[in-house]
Amino acid sequence: MDPQSQTQLVERLRKTFQSGITLPEQFRRTQLTQLMSMIQENEDQINEALYRDMAKPKFETILSEVEIVMNELYHALSNISYWMQPEPASKNLATKLDDCFIRREPLGVVLIIGAWNYPLQLIVLPMVGAIAAGNCVIVKPSEVSSATNSLISELIPKYLSQDCYAVVCGGAKETQALLKNRFDHIFYTGSQAVARMVAQAALVHLTPVTLELGGKCPCLIYGRVNFEAAAYRLAWAKFFNTGQSCVAPDYVLCTTATRDSLVLALIKVLEKFYGKEPQKSPDLSRIVSPRHWTRLMELLRKTRGKVVVGGENNQEDKYIAPTVLVDVPEDDILMSEEIFGPILPIITFESLEKSIEFVNRKEKPLALYIFSDESSVVKTVMEKTSSGGFCSNDGIVHMTLPSLPFGGVGASGWGSYHGRWGFETFSHRRSCMLRGWALERLNGLRYPPYSEDKLKW
Ligand code: NAD
Repeated sequence: MDPQSQTQLVERLRKTFQSGITLPEQFRRTQLTQLMSMIQENEDQINEALYRDMAKPKFETILSEVEIVMNELYHALSNISYWMQPEPASKNLATKLDDCFIRREPLGVVLIIGAWNYPLQLIVLPMVGAIAAGNCVIVKPSEVSSATNSLISELIPKYLSQDCYAVVCGGAKETQALLKNRFDHIFYTGSQAVARMVAQAALVHLTPVTLELGGKCPCLIYGRVNFEAAAYRLAWAKFFNTGQSCVAPDYVLCTTATRDSLVLALIKVLEKFYGKEPQKSPDLSRIVSPRHWTRLMELLRKTRGKVVVGGENNQEDKYIAPTVLVDVPEDDILMSEEIFGPILPIITFESLEKSIEFVNRKEKPLALYIFSDESSVVKTVMEKTSSGGFCSNDGIVHMTLPSLPFGGVGASGWGSYHGRWGFETFSHRRSCMLRGWALERLNGLRYPPYSEDKLKW
C-alpha cells in the first residue's frame, strides 16, 4: 500500500470511529466473537502458515498462537461488561453531592505493529484489548513471517468489520510511512532498535506508545534444586519455538557445582525431547530466516564459551541444534545482545549475591526466573531485582494468565497488556464530575472578592 493510500485508510477509519459505531458493548462483543470464529474455523490454515514460516510444530502453534488467543477472547467476553462500567470515585465534603466517576473511553484509531516470532498472537492478542475498548484498529504484521502475514491479511477483512479494522502489510519502508500518520495510540512489539524509531515517530504527534520489547532474561539457579525437574522446565522454556521467544531464558547463572549437575540433566532431557538427532525431530522449529540464522551462527563462532551439548547446524535447513555452553565469560559476545535462538550460555557465580549484582548491572529484563526449592532464595531474588515479569521454578508460563499484566520495565518495554490491562492500555480513563446547582451559597466562598475570613473556612 502506498503512503497516500495508507493516509486515506487512517482517515477513513477515523471517520468510522467518529460515527460512534464501535461504542456499544454489543458491537464490540460481535467483533470479538467474530475474531473467535476466525481462529476456530482456520486452525488448519494457521498451523500450515506457522509451519511454512518456521516449521513450527502443531503442538506449539496450538499452545502459543491458538489457545492463548482463544483464552484471551473468552476472558474479554466474560469481563467486558464489567470493564466498561463507570468506576465510582471516592468523594470529599466539597463534592458530596456530585456524581464522580471514571469512564473508560476508546482512544480512536490505534496502530498495532507485530513481530515475527509469534506472528498471529502478537497481532490478535493486543487487538482483543483494542476492540474490547471500542477502538478502530490498523494492524501491521511482520513481513518476516510471510505466510502468517498473508493469512492475517486474508482473514481479518473476512471476519471483522472492514469499516473499523484493517491490515497493512509491508516491511520497514511501509511501516515508517504508516507511522507518519497520526494515531491515537501505537502498540509496538519488536526490537529495542526499531522501538526507538517508533517512539520518535510517535513523538511528532505526541501519540502515546506501548512498547513490548525484549532483552536478556536471566535464569538464576541457587540453593537446593531438583535438577531433573529444573532441566525439563528450563529446556522447555528455552527451546520452545527454538528459543525465539521474548521471555525465553537467555542465560543461566548458578554455582559451579550446580552447573555440573544441571548440564548432565540437560543433556538427558534434550535427548528425551528431540532424540539423538534433533534435526530429524518434528518437535523443533527452525530459525525464521537465513539472516537470523547467520546472526546466531556468528554468535556461536565468536563465543569463548565451551559447547557441552548441541552446536550442530545446517544453513540450508536454517537449523541450529539446542546448544548449551559453559565457561562463558561475563563479557562474552553471547552476553552482548539478546540471543533469541536455541543457544543457552551458563555463567557461574559462587554466590547468589554476585549473581544478583550481575543481573542488576544490566538493563531490566522482560522476565526473570529463579529455580530453587528454598522460598527464602526465591524471595531474595524477587525483592532485590526488577523485571517485567517474574516466575519461580518455571519459564514462560506466567505470561499465559490473562489476570497478570504482561509487559516490560525500563528497556524491556513500556506499558502492558493481556486481560484487563489490554483493555486499559487502549482506553482513556476520563475523570467525570457531574455537578448540579445545589449549595451555591457554599460555593460563593471561593469567588472574589477574597478575604482572610474566607480562608478560615
Ligand atoms: P520484526 O523484524 O518482525 O520487527 C517488528 C516490527 O517492526 C515488524 O512489523 C517490522 O515490519 C517492523 N520494522 C522492522 N524494521 C523497521 C524499521 N526500520 N522501521 C519501522 N518498522 C520496522 O521483529 P524483531 O524486531 O526482530 O522482533 C524481535 C524482538 O522482539 C526481540 O527483541 C524480542 O524479544 C521482541 N519481542 C518482544 C515481545 C514482547 O511481547 N515483549 C514479543 C515478541 C518479540
